[in-house]
Formats: sequence, C-alpha cells, structure tokens
Amino acid sequence: MYEALVKTLREQCQNMDCGNCNTCVKLKAADAIEELSKPRWNPVTERLPKPGEESLVLVSKSGMEVALYEEGIYGEAEWFTTSGKLEGVTHWMPLPEPPKEEAPAGPYDLLYEEGGYNSNGV
Ligand SMILES: [Zn+2]
Repeated sequence: MYEALVKTLREQCQNMDCGNCNTCVKLKAADAIEELSKPRWNPVTERLPKPGEESLVLVSKSGMEVALYEEGIYGEAEWFTTSGKLEGVTHWMPLPEPPKEEAPAGPYDLLYEEGGYNSNGV
C-alpha cells in the first residue's frame, strides 16, 4: 500500500550513499516505511482482531492455522477453524490480501456456501 511512496523515496543519492544528504535521508525513510508496513504477530494479550475476522494464528502446540475470531458470551476470546474451536492461540496477524485477478474463496466462504460442507469435507 506504500509502494508508490517508497519508490519515489528510493531515488539514488548522486554521491553513492553519502549517508546524510536529503536523498539519503529519503532512502532511510523508504526502508523504515517498508519495515513498519510488514505484517507482524500480535500477542493476543495485547490486541485482538475484529470479531468475525479471519486471521493467521499461532497456536502454542501445533503451529500456524487460519482461524476466525469471535467474542464469547463472557467477552472471552474464541477462535474457530473449519474443524472446530481452537485452544492455545498465542498470536495472530491479518491475512494477506488475495491476488487481484482472482479471489479464491476462503475456508469459511466454502463452509457457509449453500449445502454447507463442500465435497472435500473441508
Ligand atoms: Zn546522500
């Protein structure tokens, strides 16, 4: 989303990276913007996604999964995969945008399609 700005900032310094001219400062800003716009893991103790949102989650025992976040009736965090409730989620990050040309259906789109479960049993 910041690609255009980063590209503009990335004009090369005429003195081959002197380190402190206007152009070099812009190069450093481009690096910083790229670093800050990288997706990062959010500890569930600090921040949670919006209810109903799918995220990539890190589970303490089993690794990474795609899961849907919901708030339980007592306000507790609940995570669901297509195979049920997920316990032990420690971190989450937003899913990347699907490619623009074609947007394949996510697991929940398939699950809630007419007829429920698809033929793969997912
Ligand atoms: Zn410079």
